[in-house]
Amino acid sequence: MSNKVYDELIAFIREHYQSKEAIPLHAPCLGQTEKKMLIDCIDSTFVSSVGKYVDQLENQIAAYCGVKHAIAVTNGTLGLYLGLRLLGVQPGDLVLTQSLTFVATLNAVKMHHADPYLLDVDENNLGLSAQKLAHFLENETRIEDGECIHISSGKIIRVCMPMHTLGFPAEIDRICKLCRQYGIAVLEDAAEALGSRYYERHLGSFGDIGVLSFNGNKVITTGGGGMLLTDSDELAYEAKHLSTTAKMPHAWLFEHDEAAYNLRMPNLNAALGLAQLAKLADFLKEKRLLASEYQHLCASFEEFDCLPAPQNSQPNFWLNALRFPSKAERDEFLEYTNKRSIQTRPLWTPMHLLKPYQSTLRDHLPVTEQLAEQIVNLPSGVRCV
Ligand SMILES: *Cc1c(COP(=O)(O)O)cnc(C)c1O
Repeated sequence: MSNKVYDELIAFIREHYQSKEAIPLHAPCLGQTEKKMLIDCIDSTFVSSVGKYVDQLENQIAAYCGVKHAIAVTNGTLGLYLGLRLLGVQPGDLVLTQSLTFVATLNAVKMHHADPYLLDVDENNLGLSAQKLAHFLENETRIEDGECIHISSGKIIRVCMPMHTLGFPAEIDRICKLCRQYGIAVLEDAAEALGSRYYERHLGSFGDIGVLSFNGNKVITTGGGGMLLTDSDELAYEAKHLSTTAKMPHAWLFEHDEAAYNLRMPNLNAALGLAQLAKLADFLKEKRLLASEYQHLCASFEEFDCLPAPQNSQPNFWLNALRFPSKAERDEFLEYTNKRSIQTRPLWTPMHLLKPYQSTLRDHLPVTEQLAEQIVNLPSGVRCV
């Protein structure tokens, strides 16, 4: 059975990508400059964790994001793991975060033998709800010896980890202010948010630490990679130290003052990242144009809405999103488009519905559960010519 509205949207997507083939959700765009940088890197023989491209990528990302320090790591997941370690998360702690996220957010908590506490998201930006956070802190915690304690479990809350969903900014200014009042550090999962700004300020630069991902499906890629962002000299020093096996600086001695992984991004990946970063402004321009065209098209349909940019924000539109009135209609659209080789997909299954996180402590999650049933992501990658 054909659907005129869906066909119109599909025709627009095919026209935009100038393609009759399968259209992916978000493929990386790699070209001659990426090849050249990789060859340069190979010729230099510095292909591993030491090399000038890693330092250059760190400096350029720090400048772009408006933070004092950027520390390159092997991927976003381990960046979150390291960020939690730097902020002092201990086994048995609770870490405040959202159920509507990619599983890496929660896995990073579990790697510390700590437990997530799941809060609902904000309908307007899909990120951690500042309002629900305020309500939770006010009613379910108390401060004891400067520590924030979750009353019913008795567990300590040292860190809150909001995630900027699809590159839309959560109300991060409000979240940071609340957390400061309760002595809780903020780790922004900004894995999807490179290029996104809130009140002109780059996401990941509001909290104590922010983490970016450069996985193959993100706005720019290093193959695999991530970056910690921070304004703190002390946290930056520790991040570099703990991501390089905690080796004490010395010309030949191997001395390590803590047990720590090698989490350093290899130079090869950084070389790729530099070539990609040089194209970021063009990528963002194109992604924002596509988003406005999707919005324009959506305005003429009643079957679904396009999620608009939240107030005071300039999102990267990593993935554009449609919202349907019901799960049944949403599923029909997923079926219809994927059958026609247009890759569309729902948001992640909420974390509290996944096997490893079913018994996770949580607040009521009505917005999370509704959004997870109603949203679809549309092809949003840049055209690569
Ligand atoms: C991509 C992503 C990560 C993980 O990044 P990797 O570099 O793939 O490890 C973490 N959190 C969110 C929300 C992500 O989208």
